[in-house]
Amino acid sequence: MDTEPVGEDRGSAEVSWEVAPDPGRPDGRACSHLPEVARPLRPPGDGCEECLARGWTWSRLRWCATCGHVGCCDSSRGRHAYAHHAASGHPVALSLDPREGWGWCFEDELFLIESP
Ligand SMILES: [Zn+2]
Ligand SMILES: [Zn+2]
Ligand SMILES: [Zn+2]
Repeated sequence: MDTEPVGEDRGSAEVSWEVAPDPGRPDGRACSHLPEVARPLRPPGDGCEECLARGWTWSRLRWCATCGHVGCCDSSRGRHAYAHHAASGHPVALSLDPREGWGWCFEDELFLIESP
């Protein structure tokens, strides 16, 4: 059960996302990438590979909703999740902390949260 294809109907495991309210920004902004976003299918690996290669540490990890790349967050030294977005154009990174349950769209600059 570790090779579920992305985009298949996964029943109750299916998660949908919506744009989180953000008081600091105008209302009515939308993320056109929402249909592409799924729950992270893979558990976190050892961490940010680019940081590991340099012997750096990181704060939090982000998971690319497009390809599954794991990179460190913007509070980390390497900011490799952003670097991955910049290099690949993949728009959305999800937090890998199970207590957080949110994502960030780099292109639209919007927080995403799981729909209830
Ligand atoms: Zn978006
Ligand atoms: Zn990193
Ligand atoms: Zn990616």
